[in-house]
Amino acid sequence: MRMSMLFSPTLKEAPKEAEVPSHRLLIRGGYIRKLAAGIYSFLPLGNKTLRKIENIVREEMERSGASEVLMPVVQPAELWQESGRWEFYGPELLRLKDRKGGDFVLGPTHEEVITNMVRHEIRSYRDLPRNLFQIQTKYRDEIRPRAGLLRGREFIMKDAYSFDISEDAAHLSYQAMYDAYNRIFERCGLEFRAVEADSGAIGGDLSQEFHVLAETGEDSIVSCSACSYTANVEKAEIRIESALEDASGLGSLENVPTPGKHSVEDVAAFLEVQPSDLLKTLIFDSDQGPLVAIVPGDREANPIKVKSAAGLEWVEMASDETVQAVTSAPVGFAGPVGLKARVLVDVHIQEARAYVTGANLGDTHSVNVVPGRDFMIEERADLTLAGEGDPCGKCGSPFGFYRGIEVGHVFYLGTKYSVPMGATFIDSEGKEKPMEMGCYGIGVTRTMAAAVEQNHDEYGITWPMSIAPYELTVLALGNDEELMSQAESYVQALEAEGIEVLFDDRKERPGIKFKDADLTGIPFQLVIGKRGLESGELELKNRKTGEKSALPMDSVVASIAALIREERALFAPKALK
Ligand code: ATP
Ligand code: MG
Repeated sequence: MRMSMLFSPTLKEAPKEAEVPSHRLLIRGGYIRKLAAGIYSFLPLGNKTLRKIENIVREEMERSGASEVLMPVVQPAELWQESGRWEFYGPELLRLKDRKGGDFVLGPTHEEVITNMVRHEIRSYRDLPRNLFQIQTKYRDEIRPRAGLLRGREFIMKDAYSFDISEDAAHLSYQAMYDAYNRIFERCGLEFRAVEADSGAIGGDLSQEFHVLAETGEDSIVSCSACSYTANVEKAEIRIESALEDASGLGSLENVPTPGKHSVEDVAAFLEVQPSDLLKTLIFDSDQGPLVAIVPGDREANPIKVKSAAGLEWVEMASDETVQAVTSAPVGFAGPVGLKARVLVDVHIQEARAYVTGANLGDTHSVNVVPGRDFMIEERADLTLAGEGDPCGKCGSPFGFYRGIEVGHVFYLGTKYSVPMGATFIDSEGKEKPMEMGCYGIGVTRTMAAAVEQNHDEYGITWPMSIAPYELTVLALGNDEELMSQAESYVQALEAEGIEVLFDDRKERPGIKFKDADLTGIPFQLVIGKRGLESGELELKNRKTGEKSALPMDSVVASIAALIREERALFAPKALK
């Protein structure tokens, strides 16, 4: 490809709003352009990289036995009403009306559409299992689209859905997807982790996320150094140190004045105790009314664990009015004693131990509050956020902490959709049963941005070979015809070797060509200039390592071809397990 023909406008400066490297570099490098908040066009280089990622995804999905379909973006509301998500999905679901007043949505995901398709076509256990996937545009009206492609409103997802005759069979389908995802992200050249995750609005009880490790990642992951348990902090289990002692020697509950002391730190300092001696009483609003969570004073509550433990659709911190209604006290003095609401107690709270809590009275705290004695423990669950150094829930060794970008998610859904939508089959004994489902997503556009977050330096992008728009860029330095035609013949010879070459034949100064080549991040740069041609050696630069080598002109094509084949092999499909 000749760069003079390519539409690839590079920029010196990124727009102000571009805060993370992938956003800045994809715009500056001429990969993407913004149309509206969270909505982007892909320019030729961006489109190339997108296709490369898609092809890796497609190949590995097909190798795992899935078959590709393409479903509509516009989906009738009736299907969403059938599944129950018309009510629950919330404002991320973009709803529209057609000219006859019919309700539709722009698909944020396709469980309803695929379940509808399969229920009409599959009748017998003999037609199962099936795994269907597509690579398609999704729309989610995210409240805060940010970071370019990382959190868009319109984005491209690979979504796959499996249908099985039993839970055991569904677990095999899940495992096949898990394996395929590992192969996909390896072939994209990314450093990633598979982590245990909360299953969120889609539901189900087995779910893992794939995260590309990057400092700018939105997600926090903990990983145990000893047993390799890795989980999103939203989900991570923390070891419980249960010390059941005798509570009989503890003093009785007493109220003490704590004027103007609201925060854990202030109360602890004022009463000369440790934050871990306090209990935090947190009031949430939920789809089923107010809910109270009690957690140790030195730990943060994790709303996602609270929601899952309570079996709710959503929870959020309650308004001041709700807090006052539940506690009959000003905000900042809530305590567990005498509350008339559903109360969840964190598993790390010990029973035979005295704590300090709010007294549900203004400017007052209670001391010597003993859980189980002074307030009932009806529901116990793990409600806190894991952090670095916390004991691993599986083995107790300290957790390490990482930041990640969620690029993929595998869920076991069970019959969450097949039951309400009537996706059933006749089993080998002639009985009708709901299909067991799984769903599996990869953010294709997000993967592109995550790859840049992990692969860049101060000059630009440093793509892994497998997802770079081109493998090699040839920079012709100088404009005279003789040099151009020599460069052209090298380009042709390299292309004849099957190498994807971007030929910078623009009438630009060498400085600009070097800068642009570093910015766009094509893995190898071959420099063809007067000096090289005269000396008999051409310079090849490895963009990522910066390593330069002088290659004798007569063997330059063969050496580059060998080098590129070697590099490609690193990302080639691996044998299946
Ligand atoms: P997040 O927690 O980041 O909002 P999610 O849990 O809503 O993600 P899923 O419903 O599991 O995401 O969607 C599957 C994949 O689609 C995600 O793993 C992610 O890679 C991608 N994805 C989800 N939302 C977006 C978005 N707004 N922009 C780009 N990619 C997205
Ligand atoms: Mg989301």
